[in-house]
Amino acid sequence: MAKSKQKGIKDIIPKDLFDILACPLCKADLEYTKDKKGLVCSGCGAKFPIREGIPVLMPPK
Ligand SMILES: [Zn+2]
Repeated sequence: MAKSKQKGIKDIIPKDLFDILACPLCKADLEYTKDKKGLVCSGCGAKFPIREGIPVLMPPK
């Protein structure tokens, strides 16, 4: 369980959901991108968009 080091930022995704999210490629934890418009994998660096508050965890083809 990764602690958020981005304190003060408004969470886009509910924490309960965020906690169970994992990279579909390597199963590592996900973090927000710098612009908070997507998620980036802390393991392999894959990026995923967030659409209307819902993370889209589709592996890139
Ligand atoms: Zn990954």
